[in-house]
Formats: sequence, structure tokens, C-alpha cells
Amino acid sequence: MIPAAFEYRPARSVEEAIALLQDYGDEAKLMAGGQSLIPTMKLRLAQPGVLVDLGRIPGLAYIREENGTVAIGAMTTYTALGRSDLVGQHFAIIPDALAVLADRQVRNRGTVGGSMAHADPAADLTAVVLALKGAIVIQGPGGTRTMTADDFFVDTFATALQPGEIVTEIRLPVPPAHTGSAYVKLENKASHYAVVGCAAVITLNADGTCSSASIAITGASTRPTRAKAVEAALAGKKLDETQLSDAASHAVDGLELVGDIHGSQAYRGQMCTVMTRRAILKAAERA
Ligand SMILES: Cc1cc2nc3c(=O)[nH]c(=O)nc-3n(C[C@H](O)[C@H](O)[C@H](O)COP(=O)(O)OP(=O)(O)OC[C@H]3O[C@@H](n4cnc5c(N)ncnc54)[C@H](O)[C@@H]3O)c2cc1C
Repeated sequence: MIPAAFEYRPARSVEEAIALLQDYGDEAKLMAGGQSLIPTMKLRLAQPGVLVDLGRIPGLAYIREENGTVAIGAMTTYTALGRSDLVGQHFAIIPDALAVLADRQVRNRGTVGGSMAHADPAADLTAVVLALKGAIVIQGPGGTRTMTADDFFVDTFATALQPGEIVTEIRLPVPPAHTGSAYVKLENKASHYAVVGCAAVITLNADGTCSSASIAITGASTRPTRAKAVEAALAGKKLDETQLSDAASHAVDGLELVGDIHGSQAYRGQMCTVMTRRAILKAAERA
């Protein structure tokens, strides 16, 4: 399949990319790793007249610790993320997710910022960033703003990004001591996208009770969603078999379940409970 003709505009700075977006308006589309955009263009589901490439902008791919957070540049690839000792040291959940995310070729090109901005309802890192209570840094014509991942993901392939805005960084708070995190998914065997995935972050008190839980589910609904009822059911509890099963049984509360050829709504609902229970157990063991 061949995409429709387009003009290629490599930006040399974030400011230039923003200016190009302003100049060309709806005609222009940003490209990061191209792993979602190019297939969509080849299918002619997207036909941008102008492609603004972020790939030549220096300084947008980095991972560094600053002020109690790990800051990840938007153009950081999945592969670079997986190779980071800093990431591995604080967030076991990220290698979990990368191990089951797409294939090596996609991981070599696909970017963290692209994953956030694309907001595929079956993506992996979106749920991971939600569960880690991450923040998204956005630069646009009006300057720079930061918003929580909770507020960023709005709907299927829809975020709070405004015209002319670019995701420049993802910030993940360094978790407190006795925190464990894990990502578990039931994957589509062909694409590896999540039929249902669960990201869990659990912090334990000295007596082994749960001091805080942050749980996010992907694949099952129109967007990655925090499982607030599960979080509430875990708070203050000893994580024994009964409590775990009880908490996981709330995984679908408040979820707008979707169904398709890969799994009905009922099946996805069941799998939400199973994946959530497994993710909590794994995270708690690591805490
Ligand atoms: C075969 C295959 C299997 C896959 N399997 C999985 C999987 O199992 N799990 C998973 O999570 N993903 C999967 N993906 C998707 C992959 O993770 C994509 O790389 C990712 O969704 C988008 O990242 P990208 O850098 O390639 O973005 P691009 O494709 O370049 O862009 C995607 C969209 O985001 C916008 N955009 C990109 N960067 C920015 C930015 N910094 N600011 C604002 N807007 C931006 C673009 O304009 C475009 O609309 C798969 C893809 C393929 C081709």
C-alpha cells in the first residue's frame, strides 16, 4: 500500500515544529517513530498534506532523574527505555510492558511521546504511565504546560492536546520505599496489542498492609482507565488471597467495556479481573 503524496518537513527544533503546525493547520501531522502513523497513511486512513518530522530535533531523547522524578524525553524509543538502568531500578513495570510490546522493529522506532499522543486504547505504556501517576509535558504556541496522565487521556485516540501542541516529556515520580510495580497483559497474538492489560503499583506499610495502590487497565475500554474501585478496595488491607480476589472483582467497575473480533465485552470483563489479580500479586511480591 502506498500513502497519498505529502510534503516532508523535518523540524530542527520544537519551536520550528510548532510554527510548522501553525502554518499548515489541519493539513499537517507530526511524525515521531512513524510506527502508528505510517501504517495509517498506507491504508489511507490518514492523508496529511504535510508531515512534520520530530526525528531530527536534537535533545528530545533522554532519560534523567531530576527533583524526585524520572524525566523521559518524548522521542525516547522503547528500546532506549528498556536499556536504561535508571528506569529498571525504579520501575520494574516498564521492562514488564516492553517485553510484551509489539516486536523489535517497532520498539526500535516507536517512541514514548508517540505512544502517549496516539492514545491507542489498547496500548501498553499509556496504562503504565497512568498507574505510575505520571505527568505529560506539552509545548505549544502558548508556552509549556504540564498535565497529569489522568487528565491527558480523553477518549479513543483522543487526548487533551490542543492544535499546535507537542508532547515533549513524560515525568514519572520516583516511587517511595516498599513499592512494587508490575504489568500483565493478555495479548492479541498477531499484533501484540492488549486485549486486556493491567498495570499495578503497590506500596506496602511495614506491617505488610497496602498503604497505596494505583491500578490502570488498557485494551478493555475506550481509553486507558484507572481502576479506582480496585484501588479503594486494596487500601489499608493485608493482601491475602481473599482480599486480592475481592479487590480484583471490582476491575470492571466504571469501565465502558468494548467488544470486537478479539474478545467480546463479557470476555474482556472476565479478563480484566484475571489480569488485575495477577498484576497486583506480582507488584505486591516486588514491594
Ligand atoms: C506491528 C505493530 C505492532 C504494535 N504493537 C503494539 C503493542 O503491542 N503495544 C503498543 O503499545 N503499541 C503497539 N504498536 C504501536 C507502537 O507502540 C507505536 O510506536 C506508538 O503507538 C506510536 O509511537 P510512534 O513514535 O511510532 O508515533 P507515530 O506513529 O509517529 O505517531 C503517532 C501519532 O502521535 C502523534 N505524535 C507522535 N509524537 C508526538 C508528540 N511528541 N507530540 C504530539 N503528537 C505526537 C502523531 O502525529 C500521530 O498522530 C504497534 C505498532 C505496530 C506497527
